[in-house]
Amino acid sequence: MVTTHNLGFPRIGAKRELKFALETYWKGQSSRDELKATGEQLRARHWANQAGLDFAPVGDFAFYDQVLDMSFTLGNLPERVRDFHGDRLDNYFRVARGRSAQGADDHSECCGGVAAGEMTKWFDTNYHYIVPEFDAATQFSLDPSRLVEQLAQARALGVKAKPVIIGPVTYLWLGKSKDDADRLALLPRLLPVYAALLDYFTAHGVEWVQIDEPALVTELDPAWREAFVTAYAALETRRVKLLLATYFGQLQENLELACTLPVDGLHIDAINARDEVAQVAARLPATSVLSVGVINGRNIWKTDLNAALQWLEPLHRELGSRLWIAPSCSLLHTPVDLDSEQKLDPGIKSWLAFALQKLDELTVLATALNHGRAAVADALSANAAAIESRRASPRVHNPSVKAVVSRIDATLGQRASAYPQRAAKQSTILNLPAYPTTTIGSFPQTSEIRLARSQFRSGELDGAAYKAAMEREITRSVKEQEALGLDVLVHGEAERNDMVEYFGEQLDGYAFSQHGWVQSYGSRCVKPPILFGDISRPRAMTVEWIRYAQSQTVKPMKGMLTGPVTILNWSFVRDDQPRSVSCYQLALAIREEVLDLEKAGVRVIQIDEAALREGLPLRKAQWNEYLRWAVESFRITANGVKDETQIHTHMCYSEFNDIIASIADMDADVITIETSRSDMELLDVFDHFNYPNEIGPGVYDIHSPNIPSQEHIVQLMQKAAGRIPAERLWVNPDCGLKTRAWEEVIPALRNMVAAAKTLRQAV
Ligand code: GLN
Ligand code: ZN
Repeated sequence: MVTTHNLGFPRIGAKRELKFALETYWKGQSSRDELKATGEQLRARHWANQAGLDFAPVGDFAFYDQVLDMSFTLGNLPERVRDFHGDRLDNYFRVARGRSAQGADDHSECCGGVAAGEMTKWFDTNYHYIVPEFDAATQFSLDPSRLVEQLAQARALGVKAKPVIIGPVTYLWLGKSKDDADRLALLPRLLPVYAALLDYFTAHGVEWVQIDEPALVTELDPAWREAFVTAYAALETRRVKLLLATYFGQLQENLELACTLPVDGLHIDAINARDEVAQVAARLPATSVLSVGVINGRNIWKTDLNAALQWLEPLHRELGSRLWIAPSCSLLHTPVDLDSEQKLDPGIKSWLAFALQKLDELTVLATALNHGRAAVADALSANAAAIESRRASPRVHNPSVKAVVSRIDATLGQRASAYPQRAAKQSTILNLPAYPTTTIGSFPQTSEIRLARSQFRSGELDGAAYKAAMEREITRSVKEQEALGLDVLVHGEAERNDMVEYFGEQLDGYAFSQHGWVQSYGSRCVKPPILFGDISRPRAMTVEWIRYAQSQTVKPMKGMLTGPVTILNWSFVRDDQPRSVSCYQLALAIREEVLDLEKAGVRVIQIDEAALREGLPLRKAQWNEYLRWAVESFRITANGVKDETQIHTHMCYSEFNDIIASIADMDADVITIETSRSDMELLDVFDHFNYPNEIGPGVYDIHSPNIPSQEHIVQLMQKAAGRIPAERLWVNPDCGLKTRAWEEVIPALRNMVAAAKTLRQAV
């Protein structure tokens, strides 16, 4: 008999109940007990959803983040909150967000605000975790209270519980050392705490513990590989069984290591590492369980169940009851329930599976393995029909798009002249001063804008009235920019709900869910659009708005677009073709928009690639391949314009050290980047790399309510001028202004323009 289990369940709730409960609590509008009760209800419901499995995860529920939970379990609290009294959950939120709840917090005097923990991306997903903090003196001590509580609840509900924890090596690997001390030096102090935790599970009658070590799919230095050996040898005396879980990639050079660690079972991601399954099966000790992640935990497509059985059946014959099956990784990265979708086109809906549907798929697979395919004949034939309908659908396949993609060649991404010639022509036309000023695109999303949008959606406002409301906002932001004296203006993006969704909604090949939310961090969720078919652009998407904005001013107005790589990286994408192909299709569609803008007389066009860096594969060995098609996609999008048209791009980060050559290869005339928070330190890369085109290092940190002073901006720009010739510098904020209020934006930009004027005097 095959065993079924799940690695983790989305905790936010099908209706985002956890999000709303958290935000209400943080505003001081509900009690801690109410919040805890919501958590309890969600866990109970999610276990009920998983009742068909042989093991359900326990401890995957977190009020904010599973890594921060682990830090608390291990007693690794940052120094700055160690003296806090008060409730444990409030302290937990202080680490997560810098503060706990309004009102509900009786310790605001003694344990008020602190710096929030740093957040970073969980492997190559769009989930963000709170980075564990270490220093040479870090000590650990076990606090199992969270797991005690969840295990007791699970037990009371009769759940077949498999506690889930992050393994010791990955835990250290995920963290940062504040004093540059070697994190691995902490391992001997950490292991006894893990041993105690495992003993605790034994004492509570737990049979299996899932211990996540996804660091095993990354390139590890020898010391880190050695740490795995040390760590699992130290845990060998435990009595509970350990299922070591790896996911998000292939084991490759770590395969042998993973197979020889003294654990009782190994989970591998058979979506990403399908080729390694046979090798792992052959190498694992005859007593070990092999758990294969056969259902993609990262996407929203139905699994081809018949195809999966095709290779699972022989494996099952070989391994018998040593075979376990599961989703490839925690279902945290998928929306909860497809059945809540009322508006999705039924054809497209029939191709999809969210978390609950993925668990049903798992059950069908297990039944087929245990009792033969005939036992689930109906489910299998329905699945086959859905897979076939998607494969053959004319909505997915557009021959004319495929034909254009097949004709892509290097000339498509090539500008007519090199940057110096272009720059000369652009400067004659645009006639900009030294240190030109601009902004990144959006202006504050006011309550008027949001109201107009929701009234338009509900039908209260008709198309003409909505358009008029947006035009009023555009006029307002143009007037404000003129009054401030900015050089290159933007229309303000009032008409855009989201920089990806806005384009997705207008492209053929995209679908949208109503409730397809996925947790991004804490209470924040995103609803990625679904790229299901060949991409084409039925009509211009932005030209009318930009034309209107340009009609309000004689200053140059930037056309504003989202680039293909960012659209791709922030969508659920097809699994029936390489990401690169979807990206090229997006590139061709956005290229048409660029050319239409140019035709409409727009002289400056910005193509945002906020998420280019995010798409980097986990393994460095694969970076070049990704960068090759990502950069080529941008070039195809941008570079069909005349020399006279100035192309800008924007990126929301500035850790460029390792990819600067690729960024330069994009050949945008101007790039604006985020630098203000680091005092321009991030520009160090330009000491070693001669970036050939123009750069606007962000001088106004839009994530903070602080107004930068004129002097501060001048200083920052002078630092930048030490590395990049002044004639190639722009002055701008570090990202869009949509989350700020006009009252903050106006004084900040006033200082920015004044700073530019000061700088010009020295030129
Ligand atoms: N043009 C977008 C804006 O200003 C860019 C947003 C981003 O980089 N995330 O809002
Ligand atoms: Zn940005």
